[in-house]
Amino acid sequence: MNERWREIGDRVYVRRHRSFDLNVGLVVGDDHCLVIDTRMSHREAADLIEAIRTVTSSPWTVVNSHAHFDHCFGNALFRPAEIWGHVRCAEEIEDYGEQQRAAVIGRLPEARRKEVEEVSITAPDQTFTTAATLDVGGRTVHLRHFGLGHSSNDVVTHVPDAGVVFAGDLVEEGAPPAFSDSYPIDWPVTTAAMLAELTGDVIVPGHGRVVDRAFAEEQRAELAEVADLARRAHVEGLRGLVHAFPYPEDVTHQVIERAFLQLDAQLT
Ligand SMILES: [Zn+2]
Repeated sequence: MNERWREIGDRVYVRRHRSFDLNVGLVVGDDHCLVIDTRMSHREAADLIEAIRTVTSSPWTVVNSHAHFDHCFGNALFRPAEIWGHVRCAEEIEDYGEQQRAAVIGRLPEARRKEVEEVSITAPDQTFTTAATLDVGGRTVHLRHFGLGHSSNDVVTHVPDAGVVFAGDLVEEGAPPAFSDSYPIDWPVTTAAMLAELTGDVIVPGHGRVVDRAFAEEQRAELAEVADLARRAHVEGLRGLVHAFPYPEDVTHQVIERAFLQLDAQLT
């Protein structure tokens, strides 16, 4: 895996990183660019900025696909530019960013902890609830929120003139979707809305290789099956169904925990 930019549409790039297998997007217009996600620390963001400067010297706007650390803890280095995000993304970073930092530090190997300790946690300053449109140096880019899914605040970035969709972690390649903050009952419906409304066959997941519409559709179908299994398990118990899920058991347990909270109406 190299960390060079790959052009996946006219002046639309993706950079896939070894760290967390994270994808960052870059949309380049005439005198402006858009950066999709900022990586997990100042160190990683500095590396990203250096890479952006090999492509364009234009000023940037930033969008966070959601409030998880691996996508937004690099934000501070992109200031004072505008950082866009869902309104709940900003709230979550402001209210729970420190909690997230503590959890991440607990999981990281010793050598990387300092990197997260030094992060100045920075929330988006430009927020929206369902849709926003940006002018990126003459190019129209749509930011959309289609509902609950991988998180409460997933933002999809659509570049219609290039047929590219940056799906954030609503779509995941190379690993099962991540359910820890998810809404498993809504997720397939949200992905379906995204696929129905956005044009383009190039879909960039938050992690892993760039995929096409068929891949995203297959993942939507699997998520729908998973939601159905979770609904059944809520009634019948999990024991007989745990192996019917398409995931390893630890992932299944995370699905169940989140789905049951939803089905018990403890999550909004
Ligand atoms: Zn995430």
